[in-house]
Amino acid sequence: TANAKMRKPFSPKPTKFALDGRETDLLHYIYKQDLQTLTNNPRALLSQIDTYSTTTNPLMNIGPTKGAFIESLIKTHRPRLMIELGGYIGYSAILFGAAMRNHGGKYISLEMNPEMAAVANQLISLAGLGDTVSVIVGTAAESLRGLVARGGLGRGGVIPMVFLDHWQDVYLPDLKLLEGLGAVDIGSVVIADNVIFPGAPEYLEWVQASCDVKKGLKGVGEVGDAGLVYETEVTEFETQFGKDGVAVTKVVGKEDA
Ligand code: SAM
Repeated sequence: TANAKMRKPFSPKPTKFALDGRETDLLHYIYKQDLQTLTNNPRALLSQIDTYSTTTNPLMNIGPTKGAFIESLIKTHRPRLMIELGGYIGYSAILFGAAMRNHGGKYISLEMNPEMAAVANQLISLAGLGDTVSVIVGTAAESLRGLVARGGLGRGGVIPMVFLDHWQDVYLPDLKLLEGLGAVDIGSVVIADNVIFPGAPEYLEWVQASCDVKKGLKGVGEVGDAGLVYETEVTEFETQFGKDGVAVTKVVGKEDA
Protein backbone atom coordinates (compact mmCIF):
# COMPACT_ATOMS: atom_id res chain seq x y z
CA THR A 1 0.00 0.00 0.00
CA ALA A 2 1.01 3.65 -0.29
CA ASN A 3 1.32 3.79 3.45
CA ALA A 4 3.82 0.94 3.57
CA LYS A 5 5.93 2.58 0.85
CA MET A 6 6.18 5.79 2.85
CA ARG A 7 7.40 4.06 5.97
CA LYS A 8 11.15 4.19 6.41
CA PRO A 9 12.80 0.98 7.52
CA PHE A 10 13.47 1.22 11.24
CA SER A 11 17.06 0.58 12.22
CA PRO A 12 17.66 1.46 15.84
CA LYS A 13 21.07 2.89 16.66
CA PRO A 14 22.82 1.41 19.64
CA THR A 15 22.43 3.86 22.50
CA LYS A 16 25.45 5.14 24.28
CA PHE A 17 24.06 5.62 27.77
CA ALA A 18 21.21 3.15 28.31
CA LEU A 19 22.10 0.47 30.81
CA ASP A 20 20.56 -3.00 30.51
CA GLY A 21 17.02 -1.69 30.89
CA ARG A 22 16.31 -3.00 34.39
CA GLU A 23 15.40 0.43 35.71
CA THR A 24 12.66 0.99 33.13
CA ASP A 25 11.65 -2.66 33.52
CA LEU A 26 11.09 -1.79 37.20
CA LEU A 27 8.56 0.85 36.09
CA HIS A 28 6.63 -1.77 34.11
CA TYR A 29 6.71 -4.07 37.13
CA ILE A 30 5.42 -1.33 39.46
CA TYR A 31 2.64 -0.24 37.11
CA LYS A 32 1.41 -3.85 36.90
CA GLN A 33 0.78 -3.86 40.66
CA ASP A 34 -2.37 -2.70 42.42
CA LEU A 35 -1.74 1.02 41.94
CA GLN A 36 -4.33 2.06 44.50
CA THR A 37 -2.26 0.56 47.30
CA LEU A 38 0.96 2.15 46.01
CA THR A 39 -0.30 5.66 45.29
CA ASN A 40 0.71 8.14 48.04
CA ASN A 41 2.15 5.22 50.01
CA PRO A 42 5.98 5.42 50.16
CA ARG A 43 6.31 2.27 52.35
CA ALA A 44 4.22 0.10 50.05
CA LEU A 45 6.06 1.37 46.98
CA LEU A 46 9.50 0.79 48.53
CA SER A 47 8.49 -2.71 49.51
CA GLN A 48 7.54 -3.47 45.87
CA ILE A 49 10.89 -2.06 44.70
CA ASP A 50 12.64 -4.33 47.25
CA THR A 51 10.69 -7.30 45.90
CA TYR A 52 11.71 -6.48 42.32
CA SER A 53 15.34 -6.08 43.39
CA THR A 54 15.48 -9.41 45.25
CA THR A 55 13.44 -11.51 42.80
CA THR A 56 14.02 -10.04 39.33
CA ASN A 57 17.05 -7.78 38.86
CA PRO A 58 19.25 -6.45 41.65
CA LEU A 59 19.14 -2.65 41.92
CA MET A 60 21.80 -0.52 43.62
CA ASN A 61 19.40 0.97 46.17
CA ILE A 62 20.36 1.67 49.77
CA GLY A 63 17.87 -1.06 50.76
CA PRO A 64 15.79 -1.52 53.92
CA THR A 65 18.54 -2.15 56.53
CA LYS A 66 20.99 0.67 55.86
CA GLY A 67 17.94 2.73 54.87
CA ALA A 68 16.36 2.36 58.33
CA PHE A 69 19.67 3.36 59.95
CA ILE A 70 19.83 6.61 57.96
CA GLU A 71 16.11 7.21 58.49
CA SER A 72 16.74 7.15 62.26
CA LEU A 73 19.47 9.81 61.84
CA ILE A 74 16.93 11.99 60.00
CA LYS A 75 14.43 11.53 62.84
CA THR A 76 17.08 12.52 65.41
CA HIS A 77 18.54 15.53 63.60
CA ARG A 78 15.40 16.78 61.79
CA PRO A 79 17.45 18.69 59.15
CA ARG A 80 15.52 21.37 57.25
CA LEU A 81 17.29 20.26 54.06
CA MET A 82 18.94 17.01 52.98
CA ILE A 83 20.82 16.61 49.69
CA GLU A 84 21.82 13.29 48.19
CA LEU A 85 24.59 12.84 45.63
CA GLY A 86 23.51 9.93 43.39
CA GLY A 87 19.75 9.38 43.19
CA TYR A 88 19.44 6.37 40.85
CA ILE A 89 15.77 5.26 40.60
CA GLY A 90 14.70 7.26 43.66
CA TYR A 91 14.60 4.59 46.37
CA SER A 92 16.56 6.60 48.96
CA ALA A 93 14.82 9.81 47.85
CA ILE A 94 11.43 8.20 48.60
CA LEU A 95 12.51 6.65 51.91
CA PHE A 96 14.35 9.70 53.22
CA GLY A 97 11.98 12.18 51.55
CA ALA A 98 9.06 10.66 53.48
CA ALA A 99 11.06 11.00 56.72
CA MET A 100 11.91 14.63 55.87
CA ARG A 101 8.26 15.44 55.16
CA ASN A 102 7.32 14.39 58.72
CA HIS A 103 9.05 17.48 60.12
CA GLY A 104 8.53 19.76 57.12
CA GLY A 105 12.03 19.38 55.61
CA LYS A 106 12.98 19.31 51.92
CA TYR A 107 15.02 16.71 49.99
CA ILE A 108 17.09 17.31 46.86
CA SER A 109 18.39 14.38 44.82
CA LEU A 110 21.31 14.97 42.41
CA GLU A 111 21.56 12.46 39.57
CA MET A 112 23.73 12.72 36.46
CA ASN A 113 21.89 10.12 34.36
CA PRO A 114 18.66 11.63 32.95
CA GLU A 115 17.13 8.18 32.38
CA MET A 116 17.51 7.33 36.06
CA ALA A 117 16.21 10.77 37.04
CA ALA A 118 13.13 10.19 34.85
CA VAL A 119 12.39 6.87 36.56
CA ALA A 120 12.97 8.50 39.95
CA ASN A 121 10.62 11.40 39.18
CA GLN A 122 7.89 8.96 38.14
CA LEU A 123 8.21 6.91 41.34
CA ILE A 124 8.54 9.99 43.59
CA SER A 125 5.33 11.37 42.11
CA LEU A 126 3.54 8.01 42.53
CA ALA A 127 4.62 8.04 46.19
CA GLY A 128 3.03 11.48 46.58
CA LEU A 129 6.33 13.14 47.50
CA GLY A 130 6.51 15.65 44.67
CA ASP A 131 6.23 18.62 47.05
CA THR A 132 9.08 17.44 49.29
CA VAL A 133 11.58 15.86 46.90
CA SER A 134 13.15 17.43 43.82
CA VAL A 135 15.54 15.76 41.40
CA ILE A 136 18.23 17.76 39.62
CA VAL A 137 19.87 16.22 36.55
CA GLY A 138 23.61 16.78 36.17
CA THR A 139 26.84 15.80 37.85
CA ALA A 140 26.62 16.49 41.56
CA ALA A 141 29.48 18.99 41.31
CA GLU A 142 27.76 21.06 38.58
CA SER A 143 24.42 20.97 40.38
CA LEU A 144 25.91 21.93 43.74
CA ARG A 145 27.78 24.87 42.21
CA GLY A 146 24.50 25.95 40.57
CA LEU A 147 22.54 25.64 43.83
CA VAL A 148 25.11 27.74 45.68
CA ALA A 149 25.22 30.37 42.91
CA ARG A 150 21.44 30.90 43.02
CA GLY A 151 21.08 30.72 46.80
CA GLY A 152 19.25 27.40 46.53
CA LEU A 153 20.59 26.02 49.82
CA GLY A 154 18.64 28.45 51.99
CA ARG A 155 19.69 29.53 55.46
CA GLY A 156 23.38 30.48 55.56
CA GLY A 157 24.09 28.40 52.46
CA VAL A 158 24.92 25.42 54.69
CA ILE A 159 23.49 21.94 54.00
CA PRO A 160 22.44 20.38 57.33
CA MET A 161 22.50 16.79 56.01
CA VAL A 162 24.37 15.38 53.01
CA PHE A 163 24.10 11.81 51.72
CA LEU A 164 26.96 10.62 49.50
CA ASP A 165 25.89 7.64 47.40
CA HIS A 166 27.25 8.23 43.89
CA TRP A 167 30.57 6.79 42.71
CA GLN A 168 33.13 6.29 45.49
CA ASP A 169 35.99 7.97 43.59
CA VAL A 170 34.09 11.28 43.67
CA TYR A 171 33.16 11.18 47.38
CA LEU A 172 36.31 13.05 48.42
CA PRO A 173 36.46 15.57 45.53
CA ASP A 174 32.75 16.39 46.02
CA LEU A 175 33.07 16.68 49.81
CA LYS A 176 36.01 19.04 49.34
CA LEU A 177 33.97 21.03 46.83
CA LEU A 178 31.23 21.39 49.47
CA GLU A 179 33.81 22.43 52.07
CA GLY A 180 35.29 25.00 49.70
CA LEU A 181 31.83 26.41 48.92
CA GLY A 182 31.08 26.68 52.64
CA ALA A 183 28.09 24.37 52.12
CA VAL A 184 29.46 21.85 54.61
CA ASP A 185 30.18 23.69 57.84
CA ILE A 186 29.68 23.44 61.61
CA GLY A 187 26.48 21.53 62.30
CA SER A 188 26.43 19.62 58.99
CA VAL A 189 26.10 15.84 59.09
CA VAL A 190 27.64 14.00 56.14
CA ILE A 191 26.58 10.39 55.57
CA ALA A 192 28.48 8.18 53.11
CA ASP A 193 27.37 4.72 51.95
CA ASN A 194 29.64 1.88 50.78
CA VAL A 195 32.75 2.99 52.64
CA ILE A 196 33.81 -0.64 53.21
CA PHE A 197 32.47 -2.24 50.03
CA PRO A 198 33.29 -1.16 47.31
CA GLY A 199 35.18 1.14 49.70
CA ALA A 200 36.25 4.78 49.74
CA PRO A 201 39.71 4.78 51.41
CA GLU A 202 40.77 8.34 50.50
CA TYR A 203 37.43 9.68 51.66
CA LEU A 204 37.67 7.81 54.99
CA GLU A 205 41.22 9.00 55.48
CA TRP A 206 40.08 12.63 55.08
CA VAL A 207 37.02 12.48 57.35
CA GLN A 208 38.93 10.59 60.05
CA ALA A 209 42.04 12.80 60.04
CA SER A 210 42.86 15.65 62.42
CA CYS A 211 43.11 19.15 60.92
CA ASP A 212 46.90 19.03 61.14
CA VAL A 213 47.06 15.77 59.22
CA LYS A 214 44.55 17.11 56.65
CA LYS A 215 46.76 20.13 55.98
CA GLY A 216 49.42 17.65 54.87
CA LEU A 217 46.91 15.77 52.67
CA LYS A 218 45.72 18.94 50.97
CA GLY A 219 47.07 18.05 47.54
CA VAL A 220 44.30 15.52 46.71
CA GLY A 221 41.53 16.79 44.42
CA GLU A 222 39.74 20.04 45.27
CA VAL A 223 41.32 22.39 47.81
CA GLY A 224 38.64 21.85 50.45
CA ASP A 225 38.80 23.19 53.98
CA ALA A 226 41.30 21.32 56.15
CA GLY A 227 40.18 23.44 59.12
CA LEU A 228 36.83 21.70 59.62
CA VAL A 229 36.92 19.44 62.68
CA TYR A 230 35.21 16.15 61.94
CA GLU A 231 33.92 13.36 64.14
CA THR A 232 33.35 10.21 62.11
CA GLU A 233 31.77 6.92 63.07
CA VAL A 234 31.55 3.96 60.70
CA THR A 235 28.65 1.56 61.29
CA GLU A 236 29.02 -1.89 59.73
CA PHE A 237 26.30 -3.87 58.00
CA GLU A 238 26.05 -7.36 56.50
CA THR A 239 24.83 -6.99 52.89
CA GLN A 240 24.32 -9.44 50.00
CA PHE A 241 27.87 -8.55 48.90
CA GLY A 242 29.39 -9.08 52.35
CA LYS A 243 30.47 -6.54 54.94
CA ASP A 244 29.80 -2.87 54.20
CA GLY A 245 29.74 0.33 56.20
CA VAL A 246 28.03 3.71 56.41
CA ALA A 247 30.20 6.60 57.62
CA VAL A 248 28.51 9.38 59.59
CA THR A 249 30.60 12.52 59.91
CA LYS A 250 29.64 15.46 62.10
CA VAL A 251 31.27 18.85 61.65
CA VAL A 252 31.93 19.81 65.26
CA GLY A 253 34.32 22.73 64.99
CA LYS A 254 36.65 24.86 62.91
CA GLU A 255 40.34 25.66 63.15
CA ASP A 256 42.36 28.06 61.04
CA ALA A 257 43.28 26.16 57.87
N1 SAM B 1 21.00 6.72 46.45
C1 SAM B 1 20.37 5.73 45.60
C2 SAM B 1 19.48 4.85 46.45
O1 SAM B 1 19.93 4.43 47.51
O2 SAM B 1 18.34 4.60 46.06
C3 SAM B 1 21.39 4.87 44.87
C4 SAM B 1 22.41 5.64 44.07
S1 SAM B 1 23.38 4.61 42.99
C5 SAM B 1 24.35 3.69 44.13
C6 SAM B 1 24.56 5.71 42.29
C7 SAM B 1 23.98 6.75 41.32
O3 SAM B 1 24.90 7.83 41.26
C8 SAM B 1 23.80 6.27 39.88
O4 SAM B 1 22.47 6.44 39.49
C9 SAM B 1 24.74 7.17 39.06
O5 SAM B 1 24.21 7.55 37.81
C10 SAM B 1 24.87 8.38 39.97
N2 SAM B 1 26.12 9.15 39.83
C11 SAM B 1 27.39 8.68 39.69
N3 SAM B 1 28.27 9.68 39.66
C12 SAM B 1 27.56 10.82 39.79
C13 SAM B 1 27.90 12.20 39.84
N4 SAM B 1 29.18 12.60 39.75
N5 SAM B 1 26.92 13.09 39.97
C14 SAM B 1 25.62 12.71 40.07
N6 SAM B 1 25.24 11.43 40.03
C15 SAM B 1 26.19 10.49 39.89
